[in-house]
Amino acid sequence: MESTFHGIAVSPGIAIGPVLVFDVDRFDIPNYAITDVKGELRRLARAIVETRNELTHLYKKTAAELGEAHADILNVHLMLLDDVEMRDTLNARLRSEQVNVEYILHTLAEAYSQTLSNIDDPVFKDRADDLADVVDRVLRHLLDEVRPDLQHMNGPSLVVSHELSPSDTATIDQKNLLGVVLDSGSLTSHTAILTRALGVPAVMGLEHLSSHIEHGIEIIVDGKAGLVILEPEPETIARYQAKKVEEEREKEKLKKTASRHVQTLDGVHIATQANVALPIEVRQCKDLSAEGIGLYRTEFLFLNRDTLPDEEEQLEAYCMVCKAMAPHPVTLRTMDIGGDKFVAHLQGLREDNPQLGWRAVRFCLERPDIFKTQLRAMLRASACGKIQIMFPMISGVGELRKVKAVLEEVKQELRDEGIAFNEDVPVGIMIEVPSAVALADLLAKECDFFSLGTNDLIQYSLAVDRVNEKIAHLYEPAHPAVIRMLYHVMTIAEKFKIPCSVCGEMAGDPRFTELLIGMGVTGLSMAAIALPTVRGEINTINMDTARELVQSVLDLELADDVNAALDAHHDLRWGALASREGTAS
Ligand code: PEP
Ligand code: MG
Repeated sequence: MESTFHGIAVSPGIAIGPVLVFDVDRFDIPNYAITDVKGELRRLARAIVETRNELTHLYKKTAAELGEAHADILNVHLMLLDDVEMRDTLNARLRSEQVNVEYILHTLAEAYSQTLSNIDDPVFKDRADDLADVVDRVLRHLLDEVRPDLQHMNGPSLVVSHELSPSDTATIDQKNLLGVVLDSGSLTSHTAILTRALGVPAVMGLEHLSSHIEHGIEIIVDGKAGLVILEPEPETIARYQAKKVEEEREKEKLKKTASRHVQTLDGVHIATQANVALPIEVRQCKDLSAEGIGLYRTEFLFLNRDTLPDEEEQLEAYCMVCKAMAPHPVTLRTMDIGGDKFVAHLQGLREDNPQLGWRAVRFCLERPDIFKTQLRAMLRASACGKIQIMFPMISGVGELRKVKAVLEEVKQELRDEGIAFNEDVPVGIMIEVPSAVALADLLAKECDFFSLGTNDLIQYSLAVDRVNEKIAHLYEPAHPAVIRMLYHVMTIAEKFKIPCSVCGEMAGDPRFTELLIGMGVTGLSMAAIALPTVRGEINTINMDTARELVQSVLDLELADDVNAALDAHHDLRWGALASREGTAS
């Protein structure tokens, strides 16, 4: 019987098709007596060789597609296969207990994982996960089970899972992937970012839905509405098929405007740029004619690995993006690790309040070795093309001066070494902490540009953890307090004659385009897939009307009122356009 579930709308689009339940835990471990110990050891040795081949292949594929940084975790898994202590214990138990090798391996690995998980250190918890992953592969080879991997899917399917690891997502069979449905996840999770980069409809945060879904059943995913419909009735399928055709037609129509000069009806150009986290995203940015990268989340170079990227590796990544986007500018944000982007080997123990914790420049200022290496790479990249450097989470003038002082030190080192860089590289800050809003006039005097990080600004000003599904309904971009803060920052930026863009999710939400433009935003940077829609909006906007909208909204008391005003303006604009087109034809 048809049933509908609501989750977090992570990546837009409609997908209809059969389910592939990706559940690496679904298989039984047999337990039986054996007499041929040597035979069991031979079976194990064969399974280890097969696992090694599988992991080596996966390593090469990931390194080629996403870069070595993202493949590093598979190296860790390969090393675990050589753990001498574990092998010795396994041999000893096999001889003394005389039961099948998969049973011994399974119980041994469970005991090791348990010990590692009990240690109050995230590094050991991560090791426990790595061990479970590798043992799972060996067991499947022993049992001749095919590990459900997502590299070779049996025809077009929607992947349903409790969660997807970055290594599984990175190696997914893109040809056959129709959509993604996850119990876990949030808009800013690594996997969510990858689904948007791949342009695949995705709904996440569905709690326990995956355990109620059977392999092969038909489902519909509406990534824009955040809906998952199980076993839809024929008329529902027909309705969504029509909706899919309509959405795709609309997308194609909008794409045609992608290469056009984006401007309001009265000729004001608004830079429409893309946000990226991974090098693979650059292709899509170019396809959609992004006018540069307004936010390069460089911290993704530091995630899912145990070693730091050195200066050369970082330089290569920054120059690659910069050259690909030339002649447009690329804004490199210094690493924003911490919060929900926790890096165990750098940050030690997980914090109780990570969003209020050791994050971004707070971390960088205490680890000048890591910070300076990144700044050196960024400055050197400024010799490859148009680069801007942006600092995240700036909370006040003192902090800005400190990070700029480190930048100055690095510049001096490069000068002393005779290494080329752009002396005038623009330096800007993200405005995403409420204290920075209050001090915008002081900050504007000491930097070259502002970029409003609305994701964090909303989280911090409304005190709503942006990744907590339980309070997601309180995360309200149209909250009057947020609207007033955005207006204040843009007014200050205009007064001090510095550009002010928006790079949080609000920039890619067409409901806010007119309001932001009316406030004086100079650029909008968003997930590349949002570019055509937002450009379509910009082309219908009149500056005077947009400014009127701002004035009318500033006095409103409730988020609902703001949303209603935005909707009314939106309908008016599109209605007027339709009647103009009607008159013209
Ligand atoms: C933001 O906070 O709005 C932003 C763009 O940065 P991030 O989402 O990476 O925190
Ligand atoms: Mg942020």
